[in-house]
Order: sequence, then structure tokens, then C-alpha cells
Amino acid sequence: MDRYDRQLKIAGGTDLDRDWQRLRVLLVGCGGVGTILAQTLVRSGIGFLTLLDGDRVRLTDLHRQVLYHQEDADVGRAKVTVAGRELDKIGGRTQLKMIPEMLTPTNAEAHFLAHDVVMDATDHIAARTLIDQTAMQTGVGWIHSGAISDRWVAASFLPPGTPCYHCWVAESPAPGAIGTCESDGVLPVACLAAAAAAIRLLVKELRRPHLDNLIQESPASTRRTILRGNIADGEKTVELESDPDCPRCGLRSQSTVSDRQERSGVHLRKLCGSGSVETWLQLDLDEIESRLRQLDCEIRWHRSAAAIRSDGPSGSLICYRDGRALLTGNHSETVEQAQQQLESWLGKDALWTR
Ligand SMILES: [Zn+2]
Repeated sequence: MDRYDRQLKIAGGTDLDRDWQRLRVLLVGCGGVGTILAQTLVRSGIGFLTLLDGDRVRLTDLHRQVLYHQEDADVGRAKVTVAGRELDKIGGRTQLKMIPEMLTPTNAEAHFLAHDVVMDATDHIAARTLIDQTAMQTGVGWIHSGAISDRWVAASFLPPGTPCYHCWVAESPAPGAIGTCESDGVLPVACLAAAAAAIRLLVKELRRPHLDNLIQESPASTRRTILRGNIADGEKTVELESDPDCPRCGLRSQSTVSDRQERSGVHLRKLCGSGSVETWLQLDLDEIESRLRQLDCEIRWHRSAAAIRSDGPSGSLICYRDGRALLTGNHSETVEQAQQQLESWLGKDALWTR
């Protein structure tokens, strides 16, 4: 009997399990939400999981952080050391990597590029801002989750682009202005709900039909789903709109669609803070893979469950399941350059037209 039999048996389970098994996840933060995420991802056989956390186990973590024990708190063991030990015991097919570090501007890009998806379970806005910026620079998408008191939240920035995290939380609150688990406490049920919401967003993304956006009138670029809940009211879905004045991804503060593209109906825009160009393709990942195979130039490409990533000497092209694509590096200095590069790699019919 297959260890994963019960998830293979759901409708569409074979396809989902294949993608799940291919996915490389970086989990940042291994606390109340992170330990539940890690345990569920490993039990369900995610392909590859890296845990990043520089913290140690404390007595007050034990009521909610499901991988740690009294003896770990007594000696203040590093969280990833204990998490690695406990996750190993689960067994199964997941490859695990434990890194006893915080995410920093120095290590963020390298960590992102080694994974397909980043799951944020940190409790710092500064870490989240760094995750958002690195996502736009590298094209690696992320899912946010958090819990405090009796409330929880999860949001998907998968694939990255607009609206970004900054559209949602524009100003970093002053230190002490918002509560922490230390000041406001946190219920285990809020952590469970946050982890459930984050995994739900990940599964939903993987089950989404490719090129889902093309059935709509315009590219599905200007909205994000945020799941927000509390004990009294339950969970609500909120739509996050792009902020046209956002300094990271906004439209007003930058050159977007040039006249030429406006006339030709091709839709490209430069994401201000990251220097990447965002566009939409009307090809599915199979077709993109087949066109990249026929290319006779110096690019390396890799297909994951979430995207196809091609890295050339002067930048990268990342194509996502929903038709969105990001160009980074020198390719994206201007939107015209980005369009030329895309057409030379994937053909003139690749770009989505209005
Ligand atoms: Zn934004």
C-alpha cells in the first residue's frame, strides 16, 4: 500500500501529488504557525523542505509549537535542530534541510533561488518586507501566514508581482504599535487556522488550471486573496487591490506600457522597486517547455510544479502556471527590451494581447 494512498484517492489526487512531490519549499520561521506547517508538509510528502530559523526553544513556546518538548526548552535547543529531529521521525519521501539562521538581506536571494515557493511564518514585519522584495527580484512566489491573540491571516503572493505586500501594509508600524505574541498572547487554534489557510492557498494554486486568467477579460493581476479570521466571526476572504501609487509595484510611479505596446495590445509593465518586468503569456507550461527546448542559445531552464524558470547570462524569465511571467536582470531594463527578449525566446505569439 502506498503511504500517500489517502491523498492520491481524492479527485485529481494523482496530479496534485505529482506536483506536491516536485515542490521545493522554503519555510521561514518555525514557531506557532511554522511548526504546524512543517509537520503537515512533511506528513503529506512535499518534495523538499528547508527550515530557516535562528531562534531557540523557550518554555512559553510549548503550548502551541507542536514539534518541541519540555527538555528542549530546559536547555534552550535551537529550534531547527529539534524540528529536524522530529520531522525525521515522521519518515516518508520529503528531503529535509535545516538552517539555524534568520533570513537576512545577504542570504535571502540565494535561499529563494534554491526553492519554488517560500512560506512566511515569521512574526516580524521587517522579515516580511525582505521576503516581498526578494520575491520580486527573484521571481519566487510566497505565501504569508500569521497568528496573534485569537486572530489569524494568510495571503498568497504566488506568483509575485502586483499587488505586493507593500500594497497591503504600506507603512511599517512603529515598534510597539502592533502587538506581538509576547504582549497579546496567542491561542493554539489561531496558529492551526493560519497554517490551514496557508496550505489551502498553496493547494489551491497547484490545482488551478493552467492559464486560468485567460478566461477573464483581462489578466488576473490586480487582485490577491487574503484569508482573515478570528474566533468570534470565523474566516473571511478579502480581496486585496493593487495600489496604483505603491512605490514597489505601482503604476503611477514608473514607466509602464509604452505607446508602441499600447497600440499592439501587448501588456507589459515594469515593477518599480524590483526592476522586473511583469507580463502575461498565452502559452501553457508544456508549450513554453517545448519552445525552450528548441532554443539554440545559452540559457538553463528548470521546470517545477509552480513555474518554469530560465536563467541566461543577462537575466531570468520565470513563467507561472496562471500565464503570468516576470523578466529580471538586464532583460528588464526597459519594457521594449523585455518584449524583444520574450519574443526571441518564445515567439511573437507568446504574449497575451488584449
Ligand atoms: Zn505594491
